[in-house]
Amino acid sequence: TAGVVVAGAGQAAAQLAQSLRQGGYGGPVTLVGDEGFLPYERPPLSKDYLGNKRDAAQLLLRRPEFWAERQVTLRLGQAIVAVNREASNVTLADGAILSYEWLVWATGGRPRRLPCPGADLAGVHTIRTIADIDALKRDLAQPRRVVVIGGGYIGLEAAAVLRSMGLPVTVLEAQERLLARVTSPVVSQFFLDLHRREGVDVRLGAAVRRLTGTERVVGVELASGEILPADLVVMGVGIIPNVEVLATAGLSCPNGVEVDAHCRTNDPRILAIGDCALHPSAHAAVPLRLESVQNAIDQAKTAAATILGVPQPYTALPWFWSDQYAVKMQTAGLCLGYDQAVVRGDASRPPFSVAYLRDGRLIAVDCLSAPKDFMAGKTLIAGQALMDPERLADPGVDLKAARI
Ligand code: FAD
Repeated sequence: TAGVVVAGAGQAAAQLAQSLRQGGYGGPVTLVGDEGFLPYERPPLSKDYLGNKRDAAQLLLRRPEFWAERQVTLRLGQAIVAVNREASNVTLADGAILSYEWLVWATGGRPRRLPCPGADLAGVHTIRTIADIDALKRDLAQPRRVVVIGGGYIGLEAAAVLRSMGLPVTVLEAQERLLARVTSPVVSQFFLDLHRREGVDVRLGAAVRRLTGTERVVGVELASGEILPADLVVMGVGIIPNVEVLATAGLSCPNGVEVDAHCRTNDPRILAIGDCALHPSAHAAVPLRLESVQNAIDQAKTAAATILGVPQPYTALPWFWSDQYAVKMQTAGLCLGYDQAVVRGDASRPPFSVAYLRDGRLIAVDCLSAPKDFMAGKTLIAGQALMDPERLADPGVDLKAARI
């Protein structure tokens, strides 16, 4: 084979193959993916796909012919199980060996399960793949009392869809607020009120002790001793990056694969991108792993540039979105280390946004059904704009006009 071999055939891998061809790369490009699907997008899994508003064919990132037209080889339903760095080759699950000139690790992550008793009972679901959602939907054939463990984006999106189907839904969050890792208390409060208004029973500070049941889950026991009846449990408690194979090959993988600003690992022939890459960020003080479409796409472009010999450091601004009920949240920048949060509008009723400042400069903005602030925010954050907090607080003043 040689050329570029990519571990994974998801969002980042698909973009990498495309960017390599766009940039004129003429060597072989092979994507090895352990799922049986052509590259597809995950965001709709907890939104329109769970809600039966889109089918699997509508999740594909590209038409099926796209790959053959660009001479990108797809080896699907197959994992890379070993990397031999001396020989510059990888071994697939079926024993096949592919040699590489460049190996790009784009393996994403797998859902974490709580390390508590009962976490593997039937009726306990995670949300990462088409197969996961198909299994969950089969389980919805009977009326079900749903308990969602984890008040992060994926848990909340799933709760919104399942609640919209008329199911009784409880959300358990171990922290004292929802979305604690990614947003400010004012936005957490908004989502708490939104879900409660929609009839979701949200419990904060609710630590799970174990899941009860013999074969199938029947309840969730909290640390307080309370047992909540449950026929179906969705665990949305984060992912574990898929890096064991690379770690075994001797690469540094403390929490994801360690890479530099060009997506290079400590092996000059191996790059890593997307959810599995622990990278230095121009927007954070410490290296981080980002789990977003933006990061997967922009790091794929960075890795392609590295391979094409026109290296460009990764400086792209992080952004993200989440859909819950009729609310579209869009975030630009990282809500880390701000010293001032300015609310634009009424934080109980979208549209509104929250602007985060550090030393007077805009570093992030959360926009709740406020796409104009999101668009303006991206430019202002990238330009490290100094803002006037008073004008900023007036939603009648354009975000751009609040720049000093
Ligand atoms: P993935 O897309 O996960 O692709 C990695 C692939 O590699 C997988 O198919 C995996 O099975 C495979 N693989 C793993 N190990 C191996 C191996 N050894 N050999 C071969 N293949 C392997 N982001 C947003 O920006 N907005 C959203 O609204 C949003 N919603 C989301 C909702 C859900 C339910 C989920 C799960 C994610 C969501 N995301 C969202 C995150 C976004 O989908 C991910 O950040 C993105 O898919 C990361 O791309 P990736 O290529 O790094 O990983």
